[in-house]
Amino acid sequence: NKIIELKQRPTGKPSLNDFEFTEEDMPQPKDGELLLQTKYVSVDPYLRGRMRDEKSYIPPFEIGKPLESGIIAEVVESNNSNFKKGDFVNGMLQWKQFQTSNGNGLNKVDRKNAPLKAYLGVLGLTGLTAYLGLEKIGKLQKGETLLVSGAAGAVGSVAGQIGKIKGCRVVGIAGSEEKIDQIKEKFSFDAAINYKTTSNMKKAIETACPNGVDVYFDNVGGEILDAALVNMNKFGRVINCGAISLYNKTETQTGPRVEPLLIKNSILMQGFIVRDFVKDFGPAQKQLGKWMEDDKLNYLETVVEGFDSIPQAFIDLFNGKNKGKMIVVV
Ligand code: NDP
Repeated sequence: NKIIELKQRPTGKPSLNDFEFTEEDMPQPKDGELLLQTKYVSVDPYLRGRMRDEKSYIPPFEIGKPLESGIIAEVVESNNSNFKKGDFVNGMLQWKQFQTSNGNGLNKVDRKNAPLKAYLGVLGLTGLTAYLGLEKIGKLQKGETLLVSGAAGAVGSVAGQIGKIKGCRVVGIAGSEEKIDQIKEKFSFDAAINYKTTSNMKKAIETACPNGVDVYFDNVGGEILDAALVNMNKFGRVINCGAISLYNKTETQTGPRVEPLLIKNSILMQGFIVRDFVKDFGPAQKQLGKWMEDDKLNYLETVVEGFDSIPQAFIDLFNGKNKGKMIVVV
């Protein structure tokens, strides 16, 4: 049974050397337990934070122990009356081909309602992050302008489409021409900016958002956030959802001092952790599912094959290799 462990804490950008591939005997489920076979593995930027030895909203990974993330697994043996062989479950599970579980924290998923992989993306944590970030902090109103960074990614592509559903002007920021075309064509963004080829982001945002920015859904932080802040309208809201441009930095960052602008415009900037809103997951998932059924919400996945590919798929998030949700199929 193959396992992937954290070998050492990455310095800067993670590399394959930070991961250890090991094996163990096949686990045997005890009374009340299940044997699970890993099918789909979610790799996510926030896992980089868990590789640091720092206190956060979720405990750090330990060196020499298996990594974990959102996984869809098949029940291949069950000694637990709540689950039967052939069920598929979704939960925070270890990077192992097979593992046992007592069933706590696992949710059954039904492939009749949606493809199983969708429960790791648009109907899973990334879709919920987009929906609840906009709902709880963005409070987006019809006719407003929504700016989204990481716009071709799992969270950003859903956030932008929700903006369109709500009747807003939506502008996306992403890192390649292909992604720019895609978010405009597949996800109906009104305009898009390639931050890798744009020398003056402040000006580019101003041009793409002639009425200013009412809500900025920030997935990247850093210089793109700085450029967005100076374009915010009075009573604008900034959702600090992610800061991937800073996750691999080794020193604390400082940025331009724009506080007077924030004060003058009464800007609200708030950090957001989707797990603080677990009680809202059910209705949010229902709404996302309904929009999918009605063909209002599309999604993209980048699917990488093979258990051994999990670390590289994770590293490639920082290389912008994914369009939509990055998933490993085992
Ligand atoms: P994505 O699918 O968006 O994948 C990451 C993308 O980030 C890459 O494809 C790349 O796209 C972009 N990126 C990588 N490096 C940089 C950089 N230096 N500057 C700008 N963009 C970069 O991931 P997710 O949708 O899963 O996550 C998006 C953000 O949301 C992350 O910051 C994540 O941590 C956060 N998040 C927060 C949650 C919460 O509860 N607060 C929950 C889930 C996610 P490109 O080619 O455009 O550069």
